[in-house]
Amino acid sequence: MAFLQKLVFLLTLLSCLVGLGSAAPLRARPRDPPPPAITPVPLRLTAQQDSFNFDLSTTLVLPTSTMQPLQTVPPHCAMYNSLQSECPTSFEAVNVTYDDCGDAWTVCRCSTANMTMDTAVERLGRIPVGLRRYVATVVVAPDTQTHAYTLTSGDIHMFGDTQVDSWVHEAGHAYDWATGSPLSGTPEWQKAIDSDTCVPDTYSATSAGEDFAQMTVMKVYSLIHENSLPEGWSLDCMSHQMDYMNGLPVFNKAELFGNTCAIAGSDPSSRHSTPPPVTPTRVQPDFPAQVQPNSPLKSGLAAVEDKGEKTPTNKDSAALSTYITDVKSVLFAGGAVLGWLMW
Ligand SMILES: [Zn+2]
Repeated sequence: MAFLQKLVFLLTLLSCLVGLGSAAPLRARPRDPPPPAITPVPLRLTAQQDSFNFDLSTTLVLPTSTMQPLQTVPPHCAMYNSLQSECPTSFEAVNVTYDDCGDAWTVCRCSTANMTMDTAVERLGRIPVGLRRYVATVVVAPDTQTHAYTLTSGDIHMFGDTQVDSWVHEAGHAYDWATGSPLSGTPEWQKAIDSDTCVPDTYSATSAGEDFAQMTVMKVYSLIHENSLPEGWSLDCMSHQMDYMNGLPVFNKAELFGNTCAIAGSDPSSRHSTPPPVTPTRVQPDFPAQVQPNSPLKSGLAAVEDKGEKTPTNKDSAALSTYITDVKSVLFAGGAVLGWLMW
């Protein structure tokens, strides 16, 4: 076979592979891809800062926890264990029980992950229980860059050494999507965005969903800092977004930090809701405001009604199809290259 013909064949093959690759919306991008069912539409609002520069790890309280190793890695973790997927080596899996909930969280850690199992369990534990209860399984995987994503099932995938604000951000996605119909897709959230002129940071402007998750981090910060924002942020240009956050039931401070995942009268889409055997008496401390906002933030009690009914979802289907697409791509590429070599 002439060299030129082989070259044309190889170029055609490569162009096919590029096309296949673009069909995988959940693959790693800087920081985290959007939830799968919505095409991200960038927001035309000014970012107040480039990124978040504050640390929640020393301010959010840490519940005590116990770990129980699992003999078998759950299928929805094991499916990411391959050379071409998130964990090229092997997973270890544990069930983690925190003292504020009777239900355990499953954490699957790849053996080459940057975070140790202890670190992952600590950072998951620092997510306030009122938000953490929406998080399903956590996958901890290696990467030289930190990023993460959340599936509509509530499963969170963490890469690299992700800090506590990122864990709260991903929990915000899990809460956003808990009913299968995202809050960030509602006309009310869009109206709040349209009524403001800024978002917290550059990443918030990626989409309405990312803005929701970043505002979740902002709201948690404000609740433990006397309803203030971090230094360098102003409420004025994003007050409608914060007002929307204030109205969400999850940001009721007594329940968000209430030491129990069993919250009476709350929505049934929480994934962990069995009360702990003994409810801890721990108190989330308040920290002084760094700067006082020009106008005080309202404290929020349920302005958004609990629908009381779980909407059917297509949980995990997007991730599964991505995985299958990837496997097909690899098989196709491997077979074609092998055929070319043997030609
Ligand atoms: Zn995100």
